[in-house]
Amino acid sequence: MRLILLGPVGSGKGTQAGLISARFGLPHISTGEIFRTNIKNNTELGKIAKSYIDNGELVPEELTNKLVADRLAQDDCKNGFILDGYPRNLSQAKFLETITDVDIALMIDLSEEKIIARLSSRRMCSKCSQPTSLDWMVDGKCEKCGGEVYIRDDDKPEVIKVRLQKQAVSQELIEFFKQKGVFNKIDAADDVESTYALVKNVLDNGAKNND
Ligand code: AMP
Repeated sequence: MRLILLGPVGSGKGTQAGLISARFGLPHISTGEIFRTNIKNNTELGKIAKSYIDNGELVPEELTNKLVADRLAQDDCKNGFILDGYPRNLSQAKFLETITDVDIALMIDLSEEKIIARLSSRRMCSKCSQPTSLDWMVDGKCEKCGGEVYIRDDDKPEVIKVRLQKQAVSQELIEFFKQKGVFNKIDAADDVESTYALVKNVLDNGAKNND
């Protein structure tokens, strides 16, 4: 299954991608996570990406497209993948079309009010790289692996506002996938497992262009 997860920042795409990856045995490819790893390792890509990410801007297209093309060419993507955070706009979607087909583009939607509440309590695990939340952590550590957690620089309130404005899922991106007949949307207002039940229902039934 070649799956794309769309959705506003903070809608829970990363968490759902982690669950789908574990339960369907597909690689979870998060462009944001790849950038963060590069920033941590102080690579050339990381140095360039950091200036954009810290300001809530998108990383330039040539870099992002190449990174995705290289990642999808790896062996573990032969039977499918979960793309989380890519494509972010029509131009990236058109690039993606030149390297792979897509079976399902699933939009995980959430109201702005809930997004702000979730992002301000979001933490990232420095060990398993999965998102967690102040509400889920155990003894101040990641509830999944016990790792230390940190706050993403771009989860600061002033950057969240910019990201919400500049990185909203555009109607043209939605239309692009609707035209391909692979667009689906669910609302992620409920807890993680209830949202996953909605996700799984879409994955089990295949693309239907629901909206
Ligand atoms: P995310 O973890 O998906 O929220 O991404 C974190 C940051 O990485 C974003 O705010 C962007 O600055 C950058 N980023 C992630 N994916 C992309 C993409 N597809 N195109 C450009 N920049 C991206």
